This record gives sequence, structure tokens and C-alpha cells, in this order.
Amino acid sequence: MRVKVLGSAAGGGIPQWNCGCPNCVRVRQKSHQGTSRTQAQLAVTADGESWFLLNASPDLRQQILATPELDPAAGKRGSPIVGVVLTSADVDAVVGLLHMREFHPFQIYSTSGVRRILTETNSMFRVLERSKPPVEWRDLPSGKETPLELSSGLACSAIALEGEYPDYVDASLRKTLPKDQAVIGLVVTCGGKKMLFAPGLPGKSSAWKAQAASSDLVFLDSTFWSDDELVAIRGSGKTAREMGHPPLFGGGGLIDELRLDTRPRKVAIHVNNTNPILDEESAERREMQKAGWEIARDGMEFVL
Ligand SMILES: [Zn+2]
Repeated sequence: MRVKVLGSAAGGGIPQWNCGCPNCVRVRQKSHQGTSRTQAQLAVTADGESWFLLNASPDLRQQILATPELDPAAGKRGSPIVGVVLTSADVDAVVGLLHMREFHPFQIYSTSGVRRILTETNSMFRVLERSKPPVEWRDLPSGKETPLELSSGLACSAIALEGEYPDYVDASLRKTLPKDQAVIGLVVTCGGKKMLFAPGLPGKSSAWKAQAASSDLVFLDSTFWSDDELVAIRGSGKTAREMGHPPLFGGGGLIDELRLDTRPRKVAIHVNNTNPILDEESAERREMQKAGWEIARDGMEFVL
């Protein structure tokens, strides 16, 4: 299995168009020890030929263009991308589907709750039905391994993570959606190897921890360093936990949660532009590295 990080930042990327936080300012000035990053996005393949995207970020067009493996074959219309697996209906996870509207048939795996949001009340996504055959939606049931059909050997299972459906979802539809289908983590397996992708870790569910401990590679929600990170910068607003992201640092933070594990390889992804770990010379970055974490950056590749 090959895994490519097409994007590594949280919503907005870094620099974010309307953000003047210290990290964003210094990236614009090119005085930051770190790099710009697009919004979180993975691509995975078993055979190097057919690729599945994990989520579809708002930066997807730019991310595909930056990845030669995803180029169409010369002289042909088409794409090595055969499908997409979605972890939620968050704008950051689904807007990229609209970049894939150029009459290209592919499969989308998601919970039925996420599928209903995108197909029943957000009619713009019907643009995907124009391909021949139309884009095919497949339900991803929780806890059951589902083969990704067009992938030559990848399988995927969903871990329910207890989050909320996005604010934009119609109140009437929201009432009918199963709560445990709002946010999932994805376990992707291939040839005895296992990878976990959870760019959001809301709720108190710890089901993902057992999966992480038995994985070879994990990409986990590393949005904020501290619980009050945004409040400290903006002077008001929600804490990290109130936004559905456990902070990395402090009691109950992600570093402590996985500190004793020597396996798996741990990669911080979905990093918000305010997070001090993006500065390669920061004490927080060193703390992460000491605890055995790598910080995802766009273009990274992993082979399992
Ligand atoms: Zn910023």
C-alpha cells in the first residue's frame, strides 16, 4: 500500500486567506521556518495504478495537479482516481467532489448519513450524476470491512467517532440522521498492513485507540496544540475541545494518549495554521518529535 499526503493542514490551509496569526504572517513574509500547506487530503493505492482519495478537500484540483501519479494517461481522457472515501460531510472533506465533476465516473464510499446530506438536500452535488455511468455511492457500515471495489486489494472499515453533523445541514434532515454516522475514522487495509486516518477526533469515544495500537501507520487529528489556542489568538471563541478537536498538549491530549506506543508510525495531520508545531524551530515541534510524532507536510509518501 502506498499513501500520499496531498494536503496536511486543517480548514483554510496555511496561510489562510483571512488570517493574520503569527504563523500565517510569517509564511507570507517567507520568514517562517516551515512551509505553506494545503487542506488535509490523502491518496492511497495498492497497485500504483488505481488510486482512492480519502476525503475530497477544497484544494483538490491543485493537489491532483501537484501529484504526477494522478495524471491521466497521455492521449486519453480519464484518471487513475477510481474512488473517494469520505470521513464526514464537513465542507473541508467534501467540496473537492465538485472539482471532480468533469464527466468522470467513480465510486464514493461514505456513511448513509453523509450520502443523504450530499444527495438529498445539497443539489449542487448532483453535477456528479452527469457522468456515464453516474458516480456510484456505496454505504460504508461501521465496523465491517468493506472491499474498495476498483482498488486492486484495498479494504476499508469505518470507526464511529461520535461527532456532530455540520452546521449547514438542514434541521429537518438532521433529525432523521443516525448520530453515529456523522464523523468516522477510516481503517484501510491491504496485504496484512493497516493504516488509520482520523483527521477529526470529536467526542469521547476511544474506539480509535485500539485500532491505532494495531496499525502500522496512523494519521491523526492534530488541529490544535492547546485547548485555548484560538481563544488566545482571537481573544474569544470556542476551545479546541468545543470545536471537536482534542488538543495535542496537556492532560487528555493526543501526545499523552499515545505516548507509550512504539508502534504505529504516528503522523500529525489536519494541523491548523495557528498551531506552533508548524514552526520547525519551535519548542512544541521538538516536543512532538520527542514523543515520536512526524508532522505531515504536502507531498509526503509512505509505503507499507
Ligand atoms: Zn493563521
